[in-house]
Amino acid sequence: MTRFIFITGGVVSSLGKGLASAALGALLQARGFKVRLRKLDPYINVDPGTMSPYQHGEVFVTEDGAETDLDLGHYERFTGVSARQSDNVTTGRIYSDVIAKERRGDYLGATIQVIPHITNAIKEFVTSDLTDEDFVLCEIGGTVGDIEGLPFLEAIRQLRNDLGRDNTLYLHLTLVPYIPTAGELKTKPTQHSVKELLSVGIQPDILLCRADRQIPEAERQKIAQFCNVREEAVISALDVDTIYNVPLSYHKEGLDEQVCQHFKIARPAPDLSRWEKIVETVTKPEGEVSIAIVGKYTGLRDAYKSLAEALDHGGIANNVEVGTQWVDSEIFESGDVVSHLEGIHGILVPGGFGERGSEGKIAAARFARERNIPYFGICFGMQMAVIEAARNMAGMGKASSTEFGPCKQPVVGLMTEWLQGKDLQIREAGGNMGGTMRLGAYPCTLEKGSRVYDIYGNKEISERHRHRYEVNTTYRDALEKAGMKFSGMSPDGILPEIVEIPDHPWFVGVQFHPELKSRPFEPHPLFTSFIAAAIDQSRLV
Ligand code: GLN
Repeated sequence: MTRFIFITGGVVSSLGKGLASAALGALLQARGFKVRLRKLDPYINVDPGTMSPYQHGEVFVTEDGAETDLDLGHYERFTGVSARQSDNVTTGRIYSDVIAKERRGDYLGATIQVIPHITNAIKEFVTSDLTDEDFVLCEIGGTVGDIEGLPFLEAIRQLRNDLGRDNTLYLHLTLVPYIPTAGELKTKPTQHSVKELLSVGIQPDILLCRADRQIPEAERQKIAQFCNVREEAVISALDVDTIYNVPLSYHKEGLDEQVCQHFKIARPAPDLSRWEKIVETVTKPEGEVSIAIVGKYTGLRDAYKSLAEALDHGGIANNVEVGTQWVDSEIFESGDVVSHLEGIHGILVPGGFGERGSEGKIAAARFARERNIPYFGICFGMQMAVIEAARNMAGMGKASSTEFGPCKQPVVGLMTEWLQGKDLQIREAGGNMGGTMRLGAYPCTLEKGSRVYDIYGNKEISERHRHRYEVNTTYRDALEKAGMKFSGMSPDGILPEIVEIPDHPWFVGVQFHPELKSRPFEPHPLFTSFIAAAIDQSRLV
C-alpha cells in the first residue's frame, strides 16, 4: 500500500519546501523504501513552459518531455528517481482537463464545481500512475492562506478521509525567526501558520521549523502545545553550509524517525554514508576553478538552478570548488570584456531565448575560441557558438538565427519537422507557444574519435531537449571545413546535436540540456570533463 506524505509551507515562501521534500525522500530511500515525489502548483498556467525564468526560475524538463517546476530537479538529484509528466500539475492543467471533459459531455449534465469536480481531479492526479511505491511525497506549492492553493488543500484534506490516517501524513514547513533585539526565537508565526492550516481542516502531524539556530526545548514545547503536535514531531530544520547536508541534518533531528513512527513501521536506521562522503568532498576541496556563466537571467540564481548544481557536481568529480561568476551577456556588447573575465578558467553560455543579449553571447564564444579558454555552449549557447564560427571561421558575415527574424545566412533555423520515435512531429511558424518545443529525451549518435565520444565513452547517448530552433545542416560542410566538427547527430543524421572544435583545448556545444541529468552521485560526464579542462586552464593563468 502506498502511503502519502503531504508537504505544505507557511509563514513565508522560499523556505526550501522543495529541498525539504527531496531530503525526506532521500532519507526514506536510504531506509530502503521506494519513493516518488510530486508537486502541485497553484498557478493558472497550464505548465511553467511559457513563464519567464525571472518569474518562475528554471523550467525543469523530464525524460518524457514535461516542462515542470524546478523543484522536480531537486527531487531527481536527491533521489535519482526520474520524474515524469504525472509528477507535476498546476491549477491551469486541472481546470483545462475538467473543462475539456465538460465540453465532451462527460459529466452528464452536472453543474461543475470546485468541490467535487476540481478536487476530484486533483485527488485523481495525486493517486494515479503509481505502481509499487512505498511513499509518495506530494508538495503543495505556495504558502497556506493563498487563495489559489485552497482547492489543493481541500483535496489533500479529503484524501486523509479516503485513504485513512495510517496512510497519510501532513508535514508543515514553517519559519521560526530569531529577533536580535529580543535575543529570542519566535514561535508565533508558526502558531499562526498552523491556525491557518487548521482553518481548512488540516492538522499537521509533523512540523519542520526552519531556524538559523537550534530551537531550545522550551520553544519546541510551546510550539507542540499550541499546535497540537507531539514535541518530538517538532523538528528543527537548521540552516546548513551545503544542501547535501540537509538530509543528514534532518536525520539528526529525527525527521525520518518521526515519519516511520507516524506510519507505525519499523526499519533499521538509514545508511547515509554516501551523503557523508559527499559533504566531506564538498567542504574540503583541493582547489578552485572559476567559471563565467554568460547569460541573460543572471539576476536570479533559480533561473539556472540545474546548471549551477551540475557545475558543482563537476567540481565534486574533480575534487575542486567551482566558483561561478554570473555575467550579463550584454557587457560583451560594450567591448570591455577582459576586466569582467579576470581569472576565469572556463566560459559557459547556457540556454536562452530571444535576440536581446545574443550578440554578447556570440562575442563570448569568440573570446573563448580565440583565447583557448574552455567553452561550453548549452542549447542557445551552442547555437550562438555556431553563428560565431560561421561568421568568423567560415567567413559568412550575415550568419544568424531566424529566431531573431529573417536573415541571409540562417545557420540556425526553425525546426518544422522531426521524428519522435516513429512519430513525425510537425510545427509551423506562428503556432502555439506552450508545450510545442522539441521536448524531453532524444537519442544521439556520437562520432568515433571525437572529444565527446571520449567523454561519454559510448556511441549512443540520450539527453533531454527543450528548443524550437536547430543548427541548419545546409552549412555543415562549410563549418566543418573551417574547423567546427559536427560530432553528435540524431540517429537519422538530420539534427545536429553536438559541435566541437578539435583544434581548441575544450570547445563543445550541445543542443540538449545535460545539466538536467547530472546528479551529485552521478556527475554528468560533460560537466566533469569541462571542469577538468578548467583545472588545466587554471594552471596556465
Ligand atoms: N531559443 C533557442 C531555441 O528555441 C534555444 C532554446 C534553449 O536554449 N533552451 O531553439
